[in-house]
Amino acid sequence: MSFDLAARLAERRAADLYRQRPLLGSPQGPLVEVDGRQLLAFCSNDYLGLANHPQVVEAWRTGAKRWGVGGGASHLVIGHSTPHHELEEALADFTGRPRALLFSTGYMANLGAVTALVGKGDTVLEDRLNHASLLDAGLLSGARFSRYLHNDPASLATRLAKAEGNTLVVCDGVFSMDGDVADLRGVCAEARRHDAWVMVDDAHGFGTLGATGGGVVEQLGLGMDDVPVLVGTLGKAFGTAGAFVAGSEELIDTLVQFARPYIYTTSQPPALACATLKSLELLRSEHWRREHLAALINRFREGAASIGLQLMASDTAIQPILIGDSARAMALSQALRERGILVTAIRPPTVAAGTARLRVTLSAAHELAQVDRLLDALAQCWAQLPAESF
Ligand code: PMP
Repeated sequence: MSFDLAARLAERRAADLYRQRPLLGSPQGPLVEVDGRQLLAFCSNDYLGLANHPQVVEAWRTGAKRWGVGGGASHLVIGHSTPHHELEEALADFTGRPRALLFSTGYMANLGAVTALVGKGDTVLEDRLNHASLLDAGLLSGARFSRYLHNDPASLATRLAKAEGNTLVVCDGVFSMDGDVADLRGVCAEARRHDAWVMVDDAHGFGTLGATGGGVVEQLGLGMDDVPVLVGTLGKAFGTAGAFVAGSEELIDTLVQFARPYIYTTSQPPALACATLKSLELLRSEHWRREHLAALINRFREGAASIGLQLMASDTAIQPILIGDSARAMALSQALRERGILVTAIRPPTVAAGTARLRVTLSAAHELAQVDRLLDALAQCWAQLPAESF
């Protein structure tokens, strides 16, 4: 007996679903070098253009000189350094919550929070389009796990009625593949009615949404009573890496005691926390980044609609163009690439069958003229794209 990996891979290739990793030969930015060629890119999550901001890079450099390059150990052993602590305090202040806890990645923050809060005998309910890390966390928790219809509080309500034990409702703030914002008012109202807790992963909303970049909870005016467990990631608008959970003293103490992906891993390099402290400062003071991003989003949506492209109900930096067929999505992505533009095609199983799309993401680092270049190229490529699947 052996593992027939070759057959598995061949099957994936035959279904036009084979995943590739473009090789980046330059820093993040609107213009990148990929596989040796310069391209105008619309696929990064560096929404505010902070990933290689000179002040953030300098903070990292100074941090590395002072603290070295490694975390050294897990937080509970001897890996919890002053920069980690300062960043946690700054994130607590930013989110207006008593405390925040730093994780090495968003995937681990989600896994850690869900599995620390619910287990056997409990219930976890998730939007069916939640990020993979949240769905994996629900499965791993051992709690009864059910997915409700996307952005549908009524569908959530029918599941809440049957829930047992402690019940956690888990929801993305902005859905990563559609770009739409969660109906959190509806979700929180249902949760309150059934005495359930709400956890929101606002990986794509922090920094980009809300009057001060406080994300979807700020935009919707929701507090800690509505959303006791708030997750943010640092690899997107913050431009660095890592993640945090913000909430009450008791919540954070519980995670420190019980969240295995927090306890059993090396802390992130303290110098990285120094860099994130700087990017948080820029994110809080340079409002023009959010305003410029909003102008780019408007320009893109208006232009794409006039070409006849099918957009989704998103007013965030994630602007997918729905194509449907995987081969057509790949063909459009390839045609753009031949014109020097990089936009990734997203196919099943990342999205549902028949909903392949080009996932355009915009960043404050883009100029309006670059969005116009994308629109021109899209108009030409779209006109030449064969109508049928091939
Ligand atoms: N949550 C959401 C909604 C995401 O889109 C992602 C990453 N794409 C994550 C969590 C994971 O974050 P990280 O990349 O820091 O692991």
